[in-house]
Amino acid sequence: MDLFGKMVWVAGIVAWYLIRYPFERKAKRVRVVAGARSTAERIGLAAGTLGLGVAPAIYVATGFPRAADYAARPWAVVLGTIVYAAALWLFHRSHKDLGRNWSITLEIRDQHRLVSNGIYGLIRHPMYSSFWLMALGQALLLPNWVAGLAGLVGFGVLYFLRVGHEERMMLETFGDEYRAYMARTKRIIPHLH
Ligand code: SAH
Repeated sequence: MDLFGKMVWVAGIVAWYLIRYPFERKAKRVRVVAGARSTAERIGLAAGTLGLGVAPAIYVATGFPRAADYAARPWAVVLGTIVYAAALWLFHRSHKDLGRNWSITLEIRDQHRLVSNGIYGLIRHPMYSSFWLMALGQALLLPNWVAGLAGLVGFGVLYFLRVGHEERMMLETFGDEYRAYMARTKRIIPHLH
């Protein structure tokens, strides 16, 4: 059962990369007009990469840290698979809707347009919702306290360091248009939060 969980996690990461890769290539071609990587932003990105990528990858490849293992539970692996699949769907959806306005970090691009349609009509940060779901899926799939929970902690650091700044940057750029958009949408959970 724990081997199955690990395999699902690996397949998920591969799919994640396949979804993102074309956007990274395209993003390189669009000029950035505002935004610099602050220290908080660097720390957040490092924490997110470590927690969602490096720590679980080390665990899957080597079993480290064994002392933090616990017995895998079938229901958790099944639920984790469903949650991870939902995360990937949302990740794909939000990339499609954001299109050329996507950035790995906080930036305003040339001819940046405020996206408020598609999944962005429901929540302002669907990509971050998808990362929360990935982190939750990881915790369910990997029966190890460190590798399992690393995603929630690592992405939590990135999310809380970033989301306020991002909304301030969007407000500075789009003003009332973003204010009105904020008034009719939630951050990461439709109708709730
Ligand atoms: N927070 C969003 C986007 C993450 S990508 C989400 O979770 O789905 C980060 C980049 O997206 C930033 O450079 C920011 O300028 C841009 N961005 C965020 N919200 C946007 C929106 N509604 N329309 C256009 N660009 C947006």
